[in-house]
Amino acid sequence: MRMKVPVGVFICLLVTLKYTSQADINIAIIGGGIGGTSCAYFLKQIFNDNVSIDLYEGDTIGGRLATVALKDGNEYEAGGSIIHERNRYMSSFVDINGLEKNNNAVSERVGLYTNDGFEFIESSNHMVNIMKTLWRYGYGIKEMKNFIDDLLNKFDRIYEHQAAGHSYDTVNELLMAMDPAFSGYLNISIKDAFLNLGYSEKLIEEIVKASIKVNYGQDVNVHQFVGAVSLAGMDGSLWAIKGGNKQVAEKLLNLSNARLIQEYVVQVTQNNNNNETSYMISTNTGRNLTYDYVVFAAPLAENQKIPIIFTDISSPLKNVGKYHRTVSTFVVGKLRNEKFTPLSDGSDAVLVIALNENEFFNSIGNIESVASSSILRNWKVFSREPLTSYQLNELFESISEVKSFDWLAYPHYEIPSKSLDFQLSDRLYHINAIEWAASAMEMSCVGAKNVALLIKKNIDSNWNETNKWMRVEL
Ligand SMILES: Cc1cc2nc3c(=O)[nH]c(=O)nc-3n(C[C@H](O)[C@H](O)[C@H](O)COP(=O)(O)OP(=O)(O)OC[C@H]3O[C@@H](n4cnc5c(N)ncnc54)[C@H](O)[C@@H]3O)c2cc1C
Repeated sequence: MRMKVPVGVFICLLVTLKYTSQADINIAIIGGGIGGTSCAYFLKQIFNDNVSIDLYEGDTIGGRLATVALKDGNEYEAGGSIIHERNRYMSSFVDINGLEKNNNAVSERVGLYTNDGFEFIESSNHMVNIMKTLWRYGYGIKEMKNFIDDLLNKFDRIYEHQAAGHSYDTVNELLMAMDPAFSGYLNISIKDAFLNLGYSEKLIEEIVKASIKVNYGQDVNVHQFVGAVSLAGMDGSLWAIKGGNKQVAEKLLNLSNARLIQEYVVQVTQNNNNNETSYMISTNTGRNLTYDYVVFAAPLAENQKIPIIFTDISSPLKNVGKYHRTVSTFVVGKLRNEKFTPLSDGSDAVLVIALNENEFFNSIGNIESVASSSILRNWKVFSREPLTSYQLNELFESISEVKSFDWLAYPHYEIPSKSLDFQLSDRLYHINAIEWAASAMEMSCVGAKNVALLIKKNIDSNWNETNKWMRVEL
């Protein structure tokens, strides 16, 4: 018999029943960086406690968000450091977790360095700087700024799409939801794209190259999308999280109620029983657990640190690319005068960016501690290889401390870009596909939300299929 139920109550009943009936669904997330932990948080937002989540992390929560402690008693960002003012997810995570922003208040004087010394040095006087930059690069610099503002406006569209519950199977489709032209950005280098737009070779070989060198350790042959994201990261109001960016990942994990399993996943095996897909996850301690859905929240790369075996996966893994090595070396010492005059007098905070391919360092910059936004006189050097003591002495004198981090930092970007799928196989998802468009904390969050929404879509469609008659009877 059909019962008469008011429409509002009917919808509430439907929504509640829908997810309480899924209470036995379990999800594994592999990786506890910002991607994995924000995905756990988004899943909790969508399903409340009606799915159970295990998060596997073999190392420390935060992943590429990590800090280093120096002998001065301060901690410094060793991985992902800077967050853009327009990054809505990272900003909201600060608010909901009661964290505080450290605004990047002190601007550095940037020096573009070649084998022959400095090609260009910013002035510490703002007005003089504008004149100098216009003189050297012409109005192209203003047009480039407009291009980046336009890109940021289009990027913002993804937040509305995701708030409306839209999800995308591939990185290409997600970019096209921001702007149909973005898909083409993956198939042309930033250099060619900007030459086509009429920007001068000097602007591209100096300003654009410098931004990509410092942010991605690569060159102007990276694709247009990541090149533009890199330029956006040099402009606007930038900030970091007081106490360290990694806290966001720790706090999101707590909010999500996910169970943390501090082990490495070494194997993922697909099972197909009666057309129902599930996965067995095996860890380095010999633990084996079975899940309905698996989210891979770590890079899949030819040269990845922790090899993982996928067994019986019906659609084979695509040919993934390599990750780019970047070494961050922290130095307490004095920049050598004879090499870096006039930036080495200690009067300003500085950022030296090497333009030559054969230079052994990518950039050298003053760093601020995670506790405050005041610039301290310590240094962070980015390089492709670990620095030898000979190289360190070429850059600094009076060295009292050196610490380094060797990262497989971000994809090695090539044309045409790998356009990876968020879905590797039925119920098996990969957040870090999005890094092939651009690697950044906010990008991981966008990828994480997309995967959470893909899981919701899949659960909804399965539920609708098996329960459609029950729904009619309600
Ligand atoms: C030097 C450097 C500077 C950067 N600067 C910036 C910046 O200024 N701004 C910005 O927005 N971004 C920056 N980034 C990029 C940013 O840090 C990354 O895009 C982001 O942190 C990636 O997060 P993720 O969660 O996707 O991956 P990760 O942080 O790499 O997390 C993956 C996690 O998975 C774990 N894991 C891997 N395999 C397994 C396994 N088999 N089993 C269990 N656990 C596993 C790893 O231990 C790791 O913790 C920088 C990165 C580096 C390295």
